[in-house]
Amino acid sequence: MATTEGMDRYSRIDDSAIRELEGRFLFSTYSRYDLFISHGSGVYIYDLDGKRYLDMLGGIAVNSLGYNHPRLVRVLTEQGRNIIHCSNLFYHAFQGQLAERLCRISGMARAFFTNSGTEAIEAALKIARAYGHNHGGPEKSRILTLKNSFHGRTYGALSITAQEKYQAPFRPLVPDVEVVQELTADSLEAAFNEQVCAMVVEPIQGEGGIIPIPSAFLRAARELCDRYRALLIFDEIQSGMGRTGKWFAFQHYGVEPDLLAIAKSIAAGYPLGAVLGNARVGDSLKAGEHGTTFGGGPLACRLALEVADIIEEDGLLQNVTSLGRQLAGGLRSLAARHDRIGEVRGLGLMIGAELGDTAKEVVARLLRKGFIANAAHDTVLRLLPPFIIRREQIDEFLGALDGILSDMEGEVR
Ligand SMILES: *Cc1c(COP(=O)(O)O)cnc(C)c1O
Repeated sequence: MATTEGMDRYSRIDDSAIRELEGRFLFSTYSRYDLFISHGSGVYIYDLDGKRYLDMLGGIAVNSLGYNHPRLVRVLTEQGRNIIHCSNLFYHAFQGQLAERLCRISGMARAFFTNSGTEAIEAALKIARAYGHNHGGPEKSRILTLKNSFHGRTYGALSITAQEKYQAPFRPLVPDVEVVQELTADSLEAAFNEQVCAMVVEPIQGEGGIIPIPSAFLRAARELCDRYRALLIFDEIQSGMGRTGKWFAFQHYGVEPDLLAIAKSIAAGYPLGAVLGNARVGDSLKAGEHGTTFGGGPLACRLALEVADIIEEDGLLQNVTSLGRQLAGGLRSLAARHDRIGEVRGLGLMIGAELGDTAKEVVARLLRKGFIANAAHDTVLRLLPPFIIRREQIDEFLGALDGILSDMEGEVR
């Protein structure tokens, strides 16, 4: 039963009623895990029966500061009392300050705020087409993307998401997109010509199974974009805002984009995204050419400023680096003892472990033992824990995973 005494009537509902209502009234877009969430605290989530789960997924790379962070709760309350939304027809205190902050940590020059990652990608694509028009005419409209990428679900973002399962039901897609099929400089060079206005890359593919793109490939992309006056767009919606131990994954590679899409953990749980651009693209959009009702509202921006303060003041990037080493190292030791674990990949606290067709079963067993993770691409155990996780909590997770893999090996014999 729900431990929701004293809560309002909407919160007093049990698992079966929730399931029944969703089954009847929602489009069936999600196949949810059997977890009915009540609330979160620190790095833990609690279900409606009061059972505690260690969150190794962080709301899919969103809850970088865990749950109920006292400083965020304070900002939510205080800013909620002042003003939540005011439209983009007027100025408020925080959009400019947040843009400046994001430009400072990324080396970019300008920002446009959105509500989600997908919308940040849409904005980037529109900027790229506008830039192409301005610098090569309407023919300069081709967009290059990588096999196995994930950029979102709206038509523009979907059209550059080169995975059949996402695209097939929804064709025709946005035209003038070409997929680079291999991560080699040769296939990249073959895809470029004067008609290319942009190339989009996740420096570490997330949804595709935590796949870091080789740095030689990113350098080649940068050179070809320069040669053909095309824009290099990095999608760091998942890898950005500290997830890899630097503010952005591209800072490990030393290859800079022209446009940078970010979202997920930027406001640590409140919807906000942004596309950042360097000086080269700064004048691509004119007043009225793009916009949003909600994007960059006062509450979202004020929260994002607090998130950046907390990450800096609490030294969380260092935490991500050292704990990421511990987690990846621990997984590699497990891989040495358990055949089921293949390659372990990633940077900082963005880590994937190949588990083949047992990934989903492992995730289900972890959940029963009180650990939240997920299976990216169905075959990769994906771990994106909050930056505030502690050493002993990671050990606890590794111990549980060890036990589960041993159990599964025992069952086969
Ligand atoms: C999550 C994600 C998106 C889509 O972001 P939404 O906020 O879900 O719209 C796009 N690209 C990458 C790399 C992502 O991880």
